[in-house]
Amino acid sequence: MTARLLCIGEILVEMVADEVDQSNLAPGGWRGPYPSGAPAILADQAALCGAEVSLVGSVGADDFGAACLARLRASGVGLDRVRVDETGTTGVAFVSYRSSGERSFVFHLPETASGRFRLTEPEAALGGVDCVHLMGSSAFSPAAVEALLEVDAAAAALGVRTSFDPNLRPEMLNRPEYVAALRRILGRAWLVLASEGELPALLGDGTDARCAARLLAGGAELVVVKRGAAGASLFRRGADEVRVPGLAVDEVDPTGAGDCFGGTFLALHLGGMDAAEALRYANVAGAMAVTRRGPMSGNRTFAELQAVERSLTPA
Ligand code: ATP
Ligand code: MG
Repeated sequence: MTARLLCIGEILVEMVADEVDQSNLAPGGWRGPYPSGAPAILADQAALCGAEVSLVGSVGADDFGAACLARLRASGVGLDRVRVDETGTTGVAFVSYRSSGERSFVFHLPETASGRFRLTEPEAALGGVDCVHLMGSSAFSPAAVEALLEVDAAAAALGVRTSFDPNLRPEMLNRPEYVAALRRILGRAWLVLASEGELPALLGDGTDARCAARLLAGGAELVVVKRGAAGASLFRRGADEVRVPGLAVDEVDPTGAGDCFGGTFLALHLGGMDAAEALRYANVAGAMAVTRRGPMSGNRTFAELQAVERSLTPA
């Protein structure tokens, strides 16, 4: 069974600072452009894992946009709903890592062509789709929030399931109208894929486990909490938490791991695999993602994930 997934949101390139603790206030070395954007990374990985993916987005008519589209096309992502906007440029994110483990981002996004994603013809786009994936990182402007809410409402009207990764940027929490929109999307999601601490931040209190229980009681079917190097947890109604420990890998670049994890989970579970088994492969995919520099560079096909998984299992 082939999973049919629709993703919406930002497609941009990322520049990665050469040095840890590199200042944004002085000249330094940057590597890139790497194709990026959380929904694009997820779409790329889901396609590599065999899903039929349609991505809704927008890029500028420039080399950065072309580089993103070439990468996504090569992975098998459907790009019919990506607009090449002649009137703007492709978004750019500059990311540098801090020795504290934090990341510093400078985004050129809301005002760019990448910020102008919108789903046109929702009935045609959502017909036959198993799930629509939405991400909080895409809520970076009033127009973008409106585009997300429109898709969410269209999915609700047509009875299409949604999955949601809050992927919160700290600055969003200071915008009550954005938080309200993300809560609305969260409240009707079938699947929630959150990082540790995001659900308490969004719902205002509790632990991840308590928030997961609340969401399950409210109608969600699956809640996954991603815990970085510590692995991940799956919560299902009426079942015990399933935990997978993180694999021991050398972390080179953590950006995109969550999206790679999510793309794997969605492709495999929507394709018919049990959620606990899909979680295991998603955990492998997330671990592989951090071993390469560049947000999509660590994405792997399902066959490659199976090979890694086999190498981990004692014969
Ligand atoms: P991002 O939003 O930056 O893409 P995230 O916060 O959504 O990341 P993480 O929890 O950082 O997601 O990573 C997703 C998954 O990838 C983890 O649940 C885990 O399975 C795997 N993973 C991430 N970092 C590591 C690591 N250092 N070692 C092993 N596995 C990792
Ligand atoms: Mg994330």
